[in-house]
Amino acid sequence: MTALTPELEAALEARLRYYRDLGLYSLYRRCEADPELELTSITDTNKNQELAIPARKPVADTSISAGLSAVAPAAERAAALEAIRADIGDCTRCPLAFQGRHTIVFADGNPSARLMFVGEGPGADEDAQGLPFVGRAGQLLNNMINAMGLERGEVYIANIVKCRPPQNRTPEPVEANTCMQFLWRQIDVVKPEVIVALGSTAATYLLGVKSSLASLRGRIHNVRGSKLIVTYHPAYLLRDPRQKAEAWKDLQIAMKELGLKAHKSAKSEPGS
Ligand code: URA
Repeated sequence: MTALTPELEAALEARLRYYRDLGLYSLYRRCEADPELELTSITDTNKNQELAIPARKPVADTSISAGLSAVAPAAERAAALEAIRADIGDCTRCPLAFQGRHTIVFADGNPSARLMFVGEGPGADEDAQGLPFVGRAGQLLNNMINAMGLERGEVYIANIVKCRPPQNRTPEPVEANTCMQFLWRQIDVVKPEVIVALGSTAATYLLGVKSSLASLRGRIHNVRGSKLIVTYHPAYLLRDPRQKAEAWKDLQIAMKELGLKAHKSAKSEPGS
């Protein structure tokens, strides 16, 4: 066995810190390794690193959220969410930290929500206010929530990345993959019965697959114990309002799962 020199110990500590930042807390020793397989898998991983969308989800934080049952008191959930926010700190884990973000947009809403919405990432309004979906797309999301017979404060709203991508571009895989560990932990704490993925980026990273929205809509997926429904992003609906009727069909799937009745004023679909 190799002796643990101070350099090796420091390197080991750094590597463990890196795994912790990724949300990995338990490490297992591999049984007999086949050197040839090892080499192939390492080179393959490196080749695809930038494009890879991990299918495997990091384990939840063992310290706080792991002990929460589906009926954990709201105060416990709020404290667990605060602990996740504290872990994020003044994050510099990915390039978005250095590309003009002003605020880390953690989430908004009820820590015990039965329904959670996940968008792509903060825009200019969200970056300025520190809350998700507060701009025009947020107005439409509020209308969608109201049409479902709910108030915004009853649901939980978060994004795939917590920092604004410059010019509102789609988050890069390295940015989304780095940030996802915190969203998984938020989901593990809130334990929503239903998650609605708003748009293709949310669907891609929550499901771990890149498919067309058309192929993902209209059915119920399972993610970390929650039912997941895919619909259009509100910003897309603002650009193409004809798709609102389709989005309303998706929301009705979520409503059926939650036993919700549409708000009286929602005749067929949420307004703009
Ligand atoms: N678009 C998103 O995806 N998230 C927000 O918070 C705002 C706009």
